[in-house]
Amino acid sequence: MFAQVAVDIAHSKIDRLFTYIVPDTMQLELGNHVLVPFGRGNKLAEGFVLMLSTAPAEPDIKLKSVFKLLEPYPIFTKEQLSLAYWMRETYRCLLVDALRLMIPTQLRGGHIKEKKQYVVRLAEDADFAAIRASMMNKDGSLKAPRQVEILEMLHKTGAPIAYNEVLKFLPGSSNSLNALITKGFIIREEFTIFRTPAGVLKQEDTTVDLTASQENTIRAISFGMKTKRGTFLIHGVTGSGKTEVYMQCINSCIENGQHAILLVPEISLTPQTMGLFRARFGNKVALLHSRLSAGERFDEWRKIRLGLVQVAVGARSVVFAPFDKLGLIVVDEEHEQSYQSETSPRYHAIEVARKRCLINNATLILGSATPSITSYYRAKTGRYTLLELPERVNLRPMPKFKIVDMREEYLCGNTGIFSNMLLDELDACLKAGKQAILFLNRRGYSTFISCRSCGYVFQCKNCDISMTYHRTENRVKCHYCGLTETVPELCPNCGRKFIKYSGIGTQQVHEQMNYRFPKAAALRMDYDSTRSKDAHEKILSAFARKEAQVLIGTQMVAKGLDFPDVTLVGVIDADKSMYLPDYRSAERTFQLLTQVAGRAGRDEIPGVVVVQTNSPLHPSIRFARTHDYKGFFTYELAQRRAALFPPFSLFIRVLLTGKDESQLYLEALHIGRELEKAALIALGSGNSKDLIYLCASPSPIKKRQGDYRYQVLIKLLRTERTAQVLNAIYNCINENSKERFFTVEINPNDLF
Ligand code: ADP
Ligand code: ZN
Repeated sequence: MFAQVAVDIAHSKIDRLFTYIVPDTMQLELGNHVLVPFGRGNKLAEGFVLMLSTAPAEPDIKLKSVFKLLEPYPIFTKEQLSLAYWMRETYRCLLVDALRLMIPTQLRGGHIKEKKQYVVRLAEDADFAAIRASMMNKDGSLKAPRQVEILEMLHKTGAPIAYNEVLKFLPGSSNSLNALITKGFIIREEFTIFRTPAGVLKQEDTTVDLTASQENTIRAISFGMKTKRGTFLIHGVTGSGKTEVYMQCINSCIENGQHAILLVPEISLTPQTMGLFRARFGNKVALLHSRLSAGERFDEWRKIRLGLVQVAVGARSVVFAPFDKLGLIVVDEEHEQSYQSETSPRYHAIEVARKRCLINNATLILGSATPSITSYYRAKTGRYTLLELPERVNLRPMPKFKIVDMREEYLCGNTGIFSNMLLDELDACLKAGKQAILFLNRRGYSTFISCRSCGYVFQCKNCDISMTYHRTENRVKCHYCGLTETVPELCPNCGRKFIKYSGIGTQQVHEQMNYRFPKAAALRMDYDSTRSKDAHEKILSAFARKEAQVLIGTQMVAKGLDFPDVTLVGVIDADKSMYLPDYRSAERTFQLLTQVAGRAGRDEIPGVVVVQTNSPLHPSIRFARTHDYKGFFTYELAQRRAALFPPFSLFIRVLLTGKDESQLYLEALHIGRELEKAALIALGSGNSKDLIYLCASPSPIKKRQGDYRYQVLIKLLRTERTAQVLNAIYNCINENSKERFFTVEINPNDLF
């Protein structure tokens, strides 16, 4: 037998399979993890068996043999192997880079640590009474009282006991215990145990009275799972009970003997939601989130691979869960940007999910209160089946929007952070003993420091961005590279003392909150306050226990939270995301407003949302205020069609980075010309208008972490020729990438 092995070294020069002889004593399967001698020095390298054959692929070469099989089971399913090939094609990545996404890092580099434990039990053929008798002296006293004690304990328990437990129970008994093992009365066995991060795995019986829309949706999907499958898009308003729908669909999937995956954004993997899944699925679910230790992560993965669980819940990468009977994938909050990977392989989890569902003949559910324009467009044009949950459960009203024009507020003399409307609402909310969430998408204290005298702006030395002032540490920080410096007293440019702090961050909101409402306790949740392990959980559970009345935070508080006592949401500055130089800024602002508003009024008392803005008539605000997703979609799609933005076109960004700016610019111009030529040839004559835009220029953030950044931005009409052009673009990049490394991104999350 011969094995074709992908060696686990990420390098474009060895992005192919190598043939090895399989020794007669070794049984290999596809997907096995092996050690092979590699290179001139025959150093041992890890590898993955991707093909097996009876004849070598390269007959003339002297072949080496596989050295060792590492895991007794294939670490990849056959489906994952074909998925990896698909990813290499689609995302132009190395095969091993695709494969590495599918296994826990612990499996690689010889770091595997299964947690072993020894247990002891009575030997099957041991006759307790006879052994006991044999240990008795003639006068009735015991020869070895300790040994008898151990035997009695095991006899009474009637089950294996952990070796260490015996020693804990009967201190100083290790010699006696080992003697019994040597005599063969007691058997010692090795057990692999699984680390269970959340402790108890009790499954609870829950029955809810489904709303009519929930019932219809579940019925449609269950029917779909048995027949045509395909993709469903659930558009359900915030608080409409989407999670219940997902859980019931997952249930019917596993009742059919199949497996299911649920993807949620990392920030929604709160203890609260995980408790919900544990309660519902008990031992049947593996939960993968970023706070697991490497060992716990490895164990959860193994439970999936070895078929010990039927459901996997996690963030983006759980889409690769190695189930072999995949029946359903659910993607919650499908519009979230975090589903797209920002490092190579730049995969989008929804695309991977669609591919896996296609291979496995499985069903895909996408759900959101604010579906992405692209997904909703697909549903409207018949590629997805649209299902709607138009009302909140128990017919609770949607939160009421109150829009405050901050320009008027200013003209009337209020120059503070909080409008009078927000102050009044906060006051009423706190007096009623309820809770409030204040949202601001900027951390720190002041986001901008400048000199009043000469206009100098304090920027990061390494990045083309202004420094943020953090009052808690009394330092300025760069949010891109992490550089921190002491606060300047004098302007480094003109030497005068007119330093001005502007731009509000969460720390300042917190300070103002304490000042205005000294009796109310407020918690702050942002990147800075959640750096330590479990900080995130501690803040949320303190808020849940009502130890604080107000939660202030960045996008971490905007989504997914379900606190019944929150009746007020304040958006401190809605304009931040509105005017970014990105065609998606209206879409993102609408999503953010709708999502953050959805945190209010989830129980009996209706919610209120106060939105502070300088642009009260902006469409994102107008449509969010009336909870009119469809209106927003129609408006936004018309804009996109007129300007030929996605979904009607595709953005490709080729990024070049380096220290020498002028050199970089010349190279960007050169590759831009080459790309244009290649694209036009691929399009063929008469189709040149497909290439809407191609421009080489500095990136909007021209310098980052000490490197200059130039880019070629390409906008391409989506037609049946698009794949062809992409191919030509990738080939052109490959041919030119000898001296310069290019990052190619298709529809990147941001265009900075
Ligand atoms: P969404 O994800 O759509 O915003 P959730 O799934 O978080 O909404 O549901 C909102 C709340 O309603 C949750 O607390 C959930 O337990 C509850 N819920 C869901 N379905 C029902 C139902 N049929 N009857 C009563 N409560 C429900
Ligand atoms: Zn920086």
